Parts: sequence; structure tokens; C-alpha cells
Amino acid sequence: MKFDVPVTIALSKGRIFKQSLPLLAYAGIEPLDDPETSRKLILDTNHEQVKLVIIRATDVPTYVQYGAADLGVAGKDVLLEHGGEGLYEPLDLKIARCRMMTAGFKDAVADSPGRLRVATKYVKSAQRYYASLGQQVEIIKLYGSMELAPIVGLADLIVDLVESGNTLKANGLVPLEHIADISSRLIINKAAWKMKHATMMSLKEAMAEVVEQNQG
Ligand code: ATP
Ligand code: MG
Repeated sequence: MKFDVPVTIALSKGRIFKQSLPLLAYAGIEPLDDPETSRKLILDTNHEQVKLVIIRATDVPTYVQYGAADLGVAGKDVLLEHGGEGLYEPLDLKIARCRMMTAGFKDAVADSPGRLRVATKYVKSAQRYYASLGQQVEIIKLYGSMELAPIVGLADLIVDLVESGNTLKANGLVPLEHIADISSRLIINKAAWKMKHATMMSLKEAMAEVVEQNQG
């Protein structure tokens, strides 16, 4: 691909960065630094015009919404909490896949008469889920280590992401109810989609092609 306009791409470190690399490479974009070893927050790429900003996963939709980045890669979990204002979500990249689930001790629900307490960093998703069941619960907002909450009696249940279930198991917990399938999405700022349309479209198309190939 050729880039005749500046393009800023927002990514988070870790699994999203690693799994986005082959998708970006297919569009001809290669970062010149590794965010795991570099302290730089803005990474240059093999294209003068293309920069990567490396930020917290939960901040990616915000950067893209306000146009600080033209596009980015964000987990559906993060997008459900953000709400998606100001951005398009044109493509499921099918990376960083996992499930959003409730979890707790095996008999958590039976052992807890009355209103359940649910600890999670996914407050909106949890509220929506229990509302859809018509179930009144008390939601407790946490920022991490949700598995601890049932163990110390802070909550009956948690709502968290589950991949293998090993983290839950290591803490004596089990996955209980499936809430949503999660994967990462390409997100594009609405103004950038209009103003830099040809470039945004080509990027999206390139990524769609490689996602398709990976599926096949
Ligand atoms: P940190 O772990 O650094 O506190 P974070 O949890 O926001 O921050 P990651 O763990 O890299 O960042 O998760 C980024 C995204 O990857 C999540 O928003 C989610 O979509 C996905 N993800 C999280 N955990 C898993 C998992 N166990 N398996 C697959 N995908 C996951
Ligand atoms: Mg994490």
C-alpha cells in the first residue's frame, strides 16, 4: 500500500499488538520498534506517514473517537463498555478471541439467596446481561484481578473474560454462564473515514483479505 496522508493507528501492548502485526504486515506496515522493549509511546513504521500509538486497551476507542488516532484495534469487550460513539467498527479481525462469562464457586448461585453481588470491570455488559434476564443484582466495579472477589467474599460472582479457564481453575472457580463471544475489531474514526477515505478503505480491505485467508 501507498500512504499519501498521515495515518495514526492505536494499539495496545501484548496480545493485541502481537496478533495485529501480521494483519498490518499484510497491508505493508511494519513497526520499527517493539513496544515490549521500547519505552516509546509512538512507534515509527517503514512508512514515514504511518505511526503507531501504544496505549492501554481501554483507551483505544477514546483515542479513535476523538481522532487522536485515525484507526485502531480494540476488543469487543472494551467496545461494549465504551459504547462506540464517534467510530465505525467495520471489521471483525478474529484475533484475541475469548468469551465473556460469569464465573464463581461451583454452587455460588444456589448458596447465595437474595440479591447476588457481581464484581467486574465490565459494568455495562454485566448490567445489560442481568437486565436481559430480569435479574436484580448488585454490581461492584473492579479494575483487575476479579478472581479474587469471590475468594475474599467481596462478591458471589464475577463477569470476566475466559479463554482456557485456567486462571479461574487456579483460583478454585468455574465458568458458569456465557454472555458474549469476544474478538478484536478494527475501529475507524468517523471523520477520518470521510477525509482519508481511499486510505482507510484500502487498509480495511487489506485486513479483510488477510482475515479471510486466516479463516480458510
Ligand atoms: P492489562 O492486562 O495490561 O491490565 P488489558 O487486560 O486491558 O490490560 P489485555 O490483557 O492485553 O489488556 O487484553 C486486551 C484485549 O484482549 C481485551 O480487551 C480482550 O478483548 C482480549 N483478551 C483479554 N484477555 C484475553 C484472553 N485470555 N484470551 C484472549 N483474548 C483476551
Ligand atoms: Mg489482561
